[in-house]
Amino acid sequence: MIDIPPSTHNYSWLEQPHGTPYNSTVYLLQVTFMYLPSFYSCSYCHENFHFPFNTLSYHHKGGGPLPSTVRSEDFLEIPKRPAWCKVCNSLTLVEDILPLQDFENAYGAIRAGKSIEYPLHCRGKDAAEQIATCKALLEWRMNRIRPARALCCGGTQFLWMDTLQPLRRHADCEYGFIDPVWYIGSFCGYAHGIHSPADYRVYDPEGELVGNLTWFNQEAGSWALQELRYAPTLDWD
Ligand SMILES: [Zn+2]
Ligand SMILES: [Zn+2]
Repeated sequence: MIDIPPSTHNYSWLEQPHGTPYNSTVYLLQVTFMYLPSFYSCSYCHENFHFPFNTLSYHHKGGGPLPSTVRSEDFLEIPKRPAWCKVCNSLTLVEDILPLQDFENAYGAIRAGKSIEYPLHCRGKDAAEQIATCKALLEWRMNRIRPARALCCGGTQFLWMDTLQPLRRHADCEYGFIDPVWYIGSFCGYAHGIHSPADYRVYDPEGELVGNLTWFNQEAGSWALQELRYAPTLDWD
C-alpha cells in the first residue's frame, strides 16, 4: 500500500516525440502518465479497480474527416488525474486543466530555463522539445472552451482520487478503503500496437472521444486510427 503523493502535478512524460508545434492539423494525444497508479485496490477484500482504457489521446477536430492513419509526432499529451466517475461508477481519468495563467507562467518559466512540473514535467527531455511542447499546450489551453471532462463518458460528475484526503470507502465492504497501487518496474518487450491493438483513445481538443489507435506500423511510423465515440448516456443525474 502506498500513500498518495501530496503533489498532484508530479508528471513525467513517456518517451514519445513531442517536438511538433501545435497547429490546426495536428492531433493532440494524451498518454496515461507514468505517475498514475497502475490500478486501485480495496484494502480489505482486495477487489481491484482498473482504468477502463489504456492510454488517451486528443484529436484536433478542425481537420475534417478522421484520417485512417496518424503519426506519433502528431500527438501531444495533456495532464490528467485519476478520478471516480459517478456516471459510469468506475475509475477513470479526468483532464487536469488549470487556468490559462498557469500555462502562461509555465511557458515563461520553461523559456527562461527553469524546470516546471505542469503542464509537462521537464525531467530528461531536450530543452527545445520541452519549449515546443509547452507552447503547444498553451495554445491548446487558449482555445479550450469546455471544463475538464471524465474521459470515460465525457461527463463532469466525478471525484478526484488523488486528493489530500484520498480515503474512499469501498461501497460493498464494511472495512475496505480503495487505495492506489503502483507497479514500478522497467518495461521490456514491444509496446502496445505491435502484437495486439493498442486501444489508445483519441479525443478532440474539447475532450470529445473521436477514435482509438489500434496498430502501429513500424515501417511507416504511423498508427491506424478507427472511429470511436462515447457511449450514449441516458441518465446524467
Ligand atoms: Zn472491499
Ligand atoms: Zn464516466
